Amino acid sequence: MSQTKTELLQGNLYINGEWVSEEEQTYFESINPATQELVGTCAAATASQVDAAVNAASTAYSHWKNTSIPERAAFLTKAASLFEDKKEELAQVMTKEMGKPLTESIGEVGVVIATAQYMAGEGRRLFGEIVPAGFPDRDIKMVREPLGVVACITPWNFPVSLASYKMFAALIAGNTVVWKPASEVALSAKIFMEILHAAGLPKGTINLLTGSGRIVGQRLATHSEVKVISFTGSTEVGQQLAEMSSKTLKRISLELGGKNAVIVLKDADLDKAAEGIVKSAFTTTGQRCTAASRVIVDRSVKEELLKKVIALTEEMKVGNGLEQGVVIGPLVNEQQCRLVEDYVQKAVEEGGNIALGGRALSEIGACYYMPTIIDNVHSNHTIAQEEIFGPVLAFIEVNGYEEAMRVNNGTMYGLSTSIYTSSLHYASRAAKDAVSGLVYINNGTSNAEMGVAFGGMKMSGNGHREVSHHAFDVMTEWKSVYTNY
Ligand code: NAP
Repeated sequence: MSQTKTELLQGNLYINGEWVSEEEQTYFESINPATQELVGTCAAATASQVDAAVNAASTAYSHWKNTSIPERAAFLTKAASLFEDKKEELAQVMTKEMGKPLTESIGEVGVVIATAQYMAGEGRRLFGEIVPAGFPDRDIKMVREPLGVVACITPWNFPVSLASYKMFAALIAGNTVVWKPASEVALSAKIFMEILHAAGLPKGTINLLTGSGRIVGQRLATHSEVKVISFTGSTEVGQQLAEMSSKTLKRISLELGGKNAVIVLKDADLDKAAEGIVKSAFTTTGQRCTAASRVIVDRSVKEELLKKVIALTEEMKVGNGLEQGVVIGPLVNEQQCRLVEDYVQKAVEEGGNIALGGRALSEIGACYYMPTIIDNVHSNHTIAQEEIFGPVLAFIEVNGYEEAMRVNNGTMYGLSTSIYTSSLHYASRAAKDAVSGLVYINNGTSNAEMGVAFGGMKMSGNGHREVSHHAFDVMTEWKSVYTNY
């Protein structure tokens, strides 16, 4: 299908309240993984443009931190209503850039709206503490203070909601922001920023830098004026950022990869378990940090569960996310598709049996892979240990709860664990025994509600949490004030 030039989008950098580009600006392409068509081009920020954005945010900070909380909240409330108006337009670009079905993209913009409303309300609850003094005629209070410039670095799988978690918490607390989105979704970021601009954001309060993670990300991580790094992405890049930012003693919040499991005990409702498994494993084409990539199932019910999971998976339509009825889109790019192929091949070499799928769908496009289920996987196989980020599910058989939980906890990650059981005893034990930031009982692995802390343990994060008011443990610091009267 040919495309006219006018349909193409172009993204520039947003610095100090203006869309900017240099004469010699380099642009990179955003490609639709469903069709391989060009969605548009986006500016690749240089190191000096990173400095300009940080300077703008730093200057804006002196005003924004003294802006009253109701005024900051009013901006978020206005943004929420504009996101509502532009929901479909933004969602279309998200689906074109990273492939997920339009219904999922629309749902994600809904999360942005809910986050803006939630954080607008949380501003009024940035409570401090009154501490009993050890001496007469003295008051002591502790107050939360913003830190300054917060750099938000985000991945492509949730192009806008993860950015909203970080940026809206940072802003309501009085910080200013420099945002570096993933290159695959740079144009979705541009539309997102246009909406924030229209909401009347004071200049410099938020700045958008698209471009290479290595150039922009590294500069942000080493810049002395950046006080916080809030990163969501791979464990490998998170580790690099932690190392780079240590020289300037930045606070760093890391939300990283996962190797999430659904445990199914023999007393589980297998229909409900199959439903939860399929949804968690294959929506967003398995490209979620909380995607279920392991089913740890009691040997006595394995065959029955496997049949049910296969039957439900076969009903899922694979195709272009803009088409009605499609529930599994393409992978984000060809490289990711090849990576999935390699993992499946390795799984077979190590003794796994392909129970469903197991091949690329090159007849419909370069980035499509069949939803794949691999049986006979052992907990030490590569496919049971490493994050794949694709539509691949491994079945691991166990004997009873103890072995199931041992296998569940036997990876370097600790993001999300689900258990299906009708036993109160095992459900309650799982809530305690799972070494993961999220535990779901009789629900799949992917479900985040507003106001509930989100984050992982072990190599899935560094202990910080987003979404709820606990985000302020990252976005503020405590000041203790002694008053003698
Ligand atoms: P990624 O490769 O780590 O990239 C994430 C962000 O970091 C992008 O903006 C990227 O920019 C930037 N970046 C890349 N290399 C960098 C470097 N050397 N220095 C500084 N920044 C750098 O991750 P991804 O492929 O976008 O996303 C998938 C990963 O994110 C998975 O591991 C998934 O589990 C994780 N994730 C975690 C959560 C969670 O909440 N725990 C949520 C969603 C996703 P470029 O795009 O320009 O390279």
